[in-house]
Amino acid sequence: MTKTPVALTLNAGSSSLKFGLFAIESTPVEMAVGLIESIGKTPRLKASFGPGMSPLARDLTPAEAADHRSALATALSVLRAHFPDARASAVGHRVVHGGPSYDRPMVLTPEVMAELQRLSPFAPIHQPHNLAGIGAAMEAFPDALQVACFDTAFHRTHPKVNDVFALPREYYDKGVRRYGFHGLSYDYIAGELKRIAPLIHDGRVIVAHLGNGASMCGMIGGRSVASTMGFTALDGLPMGTRTGQIDPGVIFYMVQQEGKSIDEVRELFYSRSGLLGLSGLSNDMRALEAAGTVEANEAIDYFVFRIRRELGGLAAALGGLDALVFCGGIGENSRLIRERVCEGMGWIGLELDRERNGRNDTVISTDMSRARIMAVPTNEELVIARAAKKFLESAST
Ligand code: ADP
Repeated sequence: MTKTPVALTLNAGSSSLKFGLFAIESTPVEMAVGLIESIGKTPRLKASFGPGMSPLARDLTPAEAADHRSALATALSVLRAHFPDARASAVGHRVVHGGPSYDRPMVLTPEVMAELQRLSPFAPIHQPHNLAGIGAAMEAFPDALQVACFDTAFHRTHPKVNDVFALPREYYDKGVRRYGFHGLSYDYIAGELKRIAPLIHDGRVIVAHLGNGASMCGMIGGRSVASTMGFTALDGLPMGTRTGQIDPGVIFYMVQQEGKSIDEVRELFYSRSGLLGLSGLSNDMRALEAAGTVEANEAIDYFVFRIRRELGGLAAALGGLDALVFCGGIGENSRLIRERVCEGMGWIGLELDRERNGRNDTVISTDMSRARIMAVPTNEELVIARAAKKFLESAST
């Protein structure tokens, strides 16, 4: 009897490492998923396993997750303790930036690694962590197939008019373009729509991925036409700690009038703005909903307002709207945000059913709503595992 192959998925963020273990059956079957957060500070581990095994949630010692390498070692020891016989034949990595040419997952050959290094300046906050995760996984699994899945790949179907900035032409050739991100999540949602609502999938859909990072994507027939994120994952909607869209003149002002360095402005825009900056309280939507202070409410108001603005813009880019799909931690769970986004949106065909929304149903629009409203849990890890499966199969034929 041949043993079922196993794939490990890794998603290395700036201070977190998400991991998953999948049995590669006809479709990948989740064996474990977990998260180590606050790497290098006060690390904490959460993991859940298949039926019959208790989930884990515990603080780690600083040494157990001092950096991404030790965090990976800790994650692997947890997985080994639960699945002593499992040997990963493939490791799938989430990689933020695949540049203009990678429109699908790639096996990590030395050439692909060199290209990803070259793209690092395009995503200086994320790409180095992704590459560090890949390096650590290559050491830990020298014989496994290493696969990269790009957040930008799903958006490579954008028409040029939505890929370009109004800069002198040479910048486009240098790679200064609107890439769009959260592509693994959008890919998963497109696949789910095809499975559970094929007619909707074939139509004009706006997906709102609302998590700590947040963006929206307009799709036709499951292909990305436009997205709110641009050259970096800073553009578009306000996020937990990121500004979202901002007039670049603000940067000139801070540098020239306030004497800030570019690094200080970058840190401000990425880490101290968004919901955290506006509320002065937290980047966490649950905390803001519970707080009820003027500042927390203003942060929520701005978040909702920008989603509604982008909704109108994306609907125009699609030439109409057949469905709005919410996903991500906020999109999947926050009844309040979904209700506020959809309030008074009958003009665009959206009519929320409060009861269905309150129950967290998959379809949360009324039966009379011209366009459907849905809340669909996303699963980026599964998209990575599917890519690993595809390459494992082609490697074995
Ligand atoms: P990440 O982008 O880090 O993967 P998530 O998709 O997990 O983030 O989303 C995290 C966000 O989801 C946080 O702001 C959190 O408060 C929010 N969230 C999770 N559950 C709820 C809930 N029940 N109500 C409101 N917000 C929620």
